[in-house]
Amino acid sequence: MSLSKADFVIIGGGVVGITVALEIRRRQPQASITVFDKENQCGFHASGRNSGVLHAGFYYTADSLKAKFTREGSRKMAAYCESRGLALNRCGKLVVARKEADVPVLDTLLERAGANGVRLERLTLDEARKIEPRVKSRGDCLWSPDTVSVNPREVMSALVEDAHNNNINIVTNCAFVARSNDTLIFSDRKVQAGFVINAAGLYADRVAKQFGFSEHYTIMPFKGLYLNAGRVGTVKTNIYPVPDIANPFLGVHYTVAADGQVSIGPTAIPAFWREHYKGVQRFSPREMTSIVSQQAGLFLRNDFGFRDLVIAELPKYLKSTMIKLAGELAENVEQDGFAEWGPAGIRAQLIDQRTNKLEMDFVYEGDQGSFHVLNAVSPAFTCSLSLAEYFVDNFAIDV
Ligand SMILES: Cc1cc2nc3c(=O)[nH]c(=O)nc-3n(C[C@H](O)[C@H](O)[C@H](O)COP(=O)(O)OP(=O)(O)OC[C@H]3O[C@@H](n4cnc5c(N)ncnc54)[C@H](O)[C@@H]3O)c2cc1C
Repeated sequence: MSLSKADFVIIGGGVVGITVALEIRRRQPQASITVFDKENQCGFHASGRNSGVLHAGFYYTADSLKAKFTREGSRKMAAYCESRGLALNRCGKLVVARKEADVPVLDTLLERAGANGVRLERLTLDEARKIEPRVKSRGDCLWSPDTVSVNPREVMSALVEDAHNNNINIVTNCAFVARSNDTLIFSDRKVQAGFVINAAGLYADRVAKQFGFSEHYTIMPFKGLYLNAGRVGTVKTNIYPVPDIANPFLGVHYTVAADGQVSIGPTAIPAFWREHYKGVQRFSPREMTSIVSQQAGLFLRNDFGFRDLVIAELPKYLKSTMIKLAGELAENVEQDGFAEWGPAGIRAQLIDQRTNKLEMDFVYEGDQGSFHVLNAVSPAFTCSLSLAEYFVDNFAIDV
């Protein structure tokens, strides 16, 4: 095996890894920076398989990193897309109440929007219907004019191109396997790094454990399925239900993509192995044993409402359930031809094993030798350009 050296080694070429690489380059023009990804292209996992919604920032409590970076991150990402000529759809978002219990949550979201400095308006249903004539709600809705849709694959390609143009070395088809003292062992080479950044998404906890981090954490995969309408203009704006603010998922919604295509989803179905996208693809018996046994415990104890979540999510494997749920948000969904499943995405959701709770905010750990991004869940795509600056500021070394 060959042995090479780099000042900065980044494990994982998703949006987090690539934006951190670009931020290090901005500060250190001479440093050698290498990004390794185990797949044959960057952005193969969550960063290329998400809804592409640049969130405005009203879901999150003001003390969270999500609140701190979503508004600014969204503006930066939208400006980046404009500057690079990438597709951008400023179609906004309606948040609708499906049941009586949702109504007080509208106030909570309005308060959070105020605290986070984000525009969010309360509309009557008649007012909302001027924006989207088919929208349904039990009373008032919320309107977020600053929610924007982009094409995540296009964004990833542009960021990777920027990385190449900035002399960042990107090595694909090369998986980090282990660490031995000061040497990183990859599938086909050994590397000595001045500083290591772990942005390995679904495997970030496993990579971190090699460095003595993520002691109390494990990643639980949740599968996001989408059902595509297959045509443009089905609805004019994103329509989301009022979410259960006790968990990090936003509920099945209408997404209007950057090109106007409409889908419903994503689900949050517990997956049995980390890359459990479809059928037995990427099946790992070892992962399945550990994940399913953990899920069994969560289910029996109903930790963070996991049993209720499973009962609500499993039926979403059926198109009919998805269409019924979308029917709670808008009228005449059946006519829209939702027939094809789109590519699934999997959320790398961190669980604290001491409390058996889902981590709601971004989590990171590190020391003088390494930095580990452990819970880069939604809206990390939205926040990525701002979050990269913050992460580099928080490295335990001067950059
Ligand atoms: C269904 C779904 C919908 C979402 N919708 C939105 C949205 O609308 N808006 C938003 O802001 N966010 C959204 N998100 C969240 C967003 O996609 C993620 O927060 C973001 O993509 C995380 O980026 P990442 O770089 O950490 O992870 P990833 O993109 O998963 O990148 C991690 C990379 O690490 C690589 N890797 C893993 N292990 C190794 C190893 N051992 N060696 C080398 N490489 C390795 C992987 O191949 C992968 O490329 C959504 C996520 C999902 C799943």
